[in-house]
Amino acid sequence: MAQAALVQEFSDLSPAVTKFISRTQKLYIDGKWVDAASGKTFDTIDPATEQVICKVAAGEAEDVDRAARAASRAFYDSDWSRMIPAVREALLLKWADLVEAHAAELAELESLDNGKLVMYAQMVDVPAAVNLIRYYAGWTTKIQGSTTNVSIGIPNTEFHAFTLRQPVGVVGQIIPWNFPLVMAALKLAPALACGCTSILKPAEQTPLTAIRLVELAEQAGIPAGVINLVTGFGQTAGAAIVEHPLVKKIAFTGSTPVGKHIGKVAMDSLKRVSLELGGKSPVVIAADADLNEAIPGAANAIFFNHGQVCVAGTRLFVDEKIYDDVVGGMAEIAKSMQLGGGRNPASQMGPLVSKEQHDRVLGYIEKGVSEGGEVVVGGGRHGDKGYFVQPTIFKGCGPQSTLYREEIFGPVLVANKFSTADDLAAQANDTEYGLAASVWTRDLSLAHRLAKRIEAGTVWVNCHHLIDAALPFGGFKQSGMGREQGHEGIELYTEMKSVLMKI
Ligand code: ADP
Repeated sequence: MAQAALVQEFSDLSPAVTKFISRTQKLYIDGKWVDAASGKTFDTIDPATEQVICKVAAGEAEDVDRAARAASRAFYDSDWSRMIPAVREALLLKWADLVEAHAAELAELESLDNGKLVMYAQMVDVPAAVNLIRYYAGWTTKIQGSTTNVSIGIPNTEFHAFTLRQPVGVVGQIIPWNFPLVMAALKLAPALACGCTSILKPAEQTPLTAIRLVELAEQAGIPAGVINLVTGFGQTAGAAIVEHPLVKKIAFTGSTPVGKHIGKVAMDSLKRVSLELGGKSPVVIAADADLNEAIPGAANAIFFNHGQVCVAGTRLFVDEKIYDDVVGGMAEIAKSMQLGGGRNPASQMGPLVSKEQHDRVLGYIEKGVSEGGEVVVGGGRHGDKGYFVQPTIFKGCGPQSTLYREEIFGPVLVANKFSTADDLAAQANDTEYGLAASVWTRDLSLAHRLAKRIEAGTVWVNCHHLIDAALPFGGFKQSGMGREQGHEGIELYTEMKSVLMKI
């Protein structure tokens, strides 16, 4: 009976997605789709309707142990890490082609599980995942060491010295729910390109596209044990990955408190760790900015993906001469945004990912009001079904206020004005985070000065949210450790070895 109701609720879904969600999802360990050892499952929820989409295996320590052993066998005993790089490249390219060929299905599934609009998933998420896999496929044939002239002074002796860049081994990859497919690709592609094997744990809120992505990897011919997928919760599956002795490196994207905890635990066994954590990114609009670009750009900086982006532009700094125009213009955009389900073509913003996130963001809005902030637009729940929150702009939340300081991870902006550009970098840097920033101006000198002085892993000028596989991405300060993407992504998954030969 329950199943019939589900199908009815999701009656407009494509046949491919309908078929996919009609089953209980399994773990993928050693090339086989299996139930959790405990037999436990959890529900994944459609945030637009609050309906259960399907059940998913809840992996725990025993499953992680099986996955770690499989990944270790695949690393040490199979051909994966020793495979001719061009063959590994071809497998990754085939995988990327399959992902691209299933773009419509993946976009729909992402929207269903996460709440984002299908249109955005198709325009942004799926192409980004495909690009990441293709980009790192290219790196398989370009991983290099170097030769070095050494000065070891032993008479009548010559040396040949060189470095080897070698895969780190089994990696544990733990990802969040805001860009589930992109995050899975961002983690798996460089690891696999380097010859590592992986245990991937998607977020419990959004496991579905990672499952489909791994099915496509299997279809592409990526061998058993190279990717192991353990769906489940952070405290159980995630913690077991971080603690497992066969895992040599942890790559984590998520909240700063969990990242700090993971970093401490991983240090016990000196696992390599890369952390991509929270943000409180400033958006600076100078008086000379092209407001036709800057106003919608700043609105997109905060409202894209419903504010659930680590680089979301959450603190706005506008020159006082144009402050009212900018905030007024952004409020108009916010007011006119249609909130609705991800598959409705009229929707411009979907729901937040979960009830927990919905309640958390509404709690922040209440806090902003109680601390004396003024709501310019929004400020509440939208509708009475689904986890929708109105796009919200606050004025009057000073640097000491909770909304200015804490990561909200929702569509909530604090607007501030400035009178001179002199101390702008200091204001932008007045946060424990340092992930990203954007500067909107036609003054090249100002743009360059701020790009140098703002403490952030990414500074955009006259744009925001644009990310490329070739550009390193990561955080200063409490926004993380290490850089993903670009060549830096290869460094994360390799060890450097020096070889010194007496010849
Ligand atoms: P959010 O608050 O955005 O949900 P989290 O940092 O809690 O972000 O979660 C990001 C990812 O980390 C998810 O896959 C989650 O299951 C996992 N996770 C949460 N807690 C832990 C933990 N203690 N150890 C390992 N992974 C965890």
